[in-house]
Amino acid sequence: MTSYFEIYYTNLFVNESGLVKEIAGRLETYLMNRRAFIKLIAVSGALLVASRKLFPSKKDLPFQVVDYHVHPCDRFPREQVKARSEELGIPFGTVPHPAPRYGKISTDEDLIDYVEQTHALGLYAGLQPVNPGWHEMFLERARSCLDYVLMDALEIPDGEGGYHITWRDNFELPWETSKFMDRYLDFYENVIANEKIQILASPTFLPRCIRDEYEELWTAERMNRIIKSAVENGVALEINSGYQIPDAKFVELAKRKGAKFSFGTNSWRAHRAGNLTYSIDIAKSCDLKASDIFTLNKGSHDKAKSSQSS
Ligand SMILES: [Zn+2]
Repeated sequence: MTSYFEIYYTNLFVNESGLVKEIAGRLETYLMNRRAFIKLIAVSGALLVASRKLFPSKKDLPFQVVDYHVHPCDRFPREQVKARSEELGIPFGTVPHPAPRYGKISTDEDLIDYVEQTHALGLYAGLQPVNPGWHEMFLERARSCLDYVLMDALEIPDGEGGYHITWRDNFELPWETSKFMDRYLDFYENVIANEKIQILASPTFLPRCIRDEYEELWTAERMNRIIKSAVENGVALEINSGYQIPDAKFVELAKRKGAKFSFGTNSWRAHRAGNLTYSIDIAKSCDLKASDIFTLNKGSHDKAKSSQSS
């Protein structure tokens, strides 16, 4: 029974049609085992009801829902990203990593090709650089074709040409915790002020080794350093459904200071793309309005208008 539950729990955050497809596939497998079949029907029914509650209707919301943080890759090609966006009726923006470390886009021509191909599918064309100074790789003329740039502060330069890669599960703090937080916040401010971005992804992320200390470590003072910098530089703060951050306290503080918010899943697979349950729940609990939500300039909407059918 536990294994069924795990299977369905994993898929619960897919939308209803995804869940139904998954159930149909499982039914075939278990048809020969009557006892398993009965259990499966019971679990499926309960979870279908639960999924209705977990995936709120966009119609009830006072703001537009867009997933700006979708990663196309070999196992989730752009055509599937488009299909998933249409299936959910939620516009998507893709954010490949440019070269050199995680992606291939390295020239102006690469960047313009990517933007054109993405717009042709009716998707927004974003970029998620990782290396500070990424913009020097491209001329302003090429960068201006992008709809937006989204970047996080998860890979902190070590000053010797390498990086402290905080998202890796085995990452260990190179300094004691308060010194780490100071360096981390310095890097946030640098990313927000100097990296020519429109969205700060995954604000308040913590590496696994100190994640349990989120409430103690993210003091109002520390949160306000990120928020102040974001507001001053006109950078939106992502509410990330993948990592389920930041918390409502951060969003409340940022809202009061006039920050804008975007939604993102940081997804590399179809079943996660567009699953913005956490982002929407936080936005609702903080009573965010349309005026609090990041929007692209109008030209971007025209370029990718076919993705906004809902
Ligand atoms: Zn990402």
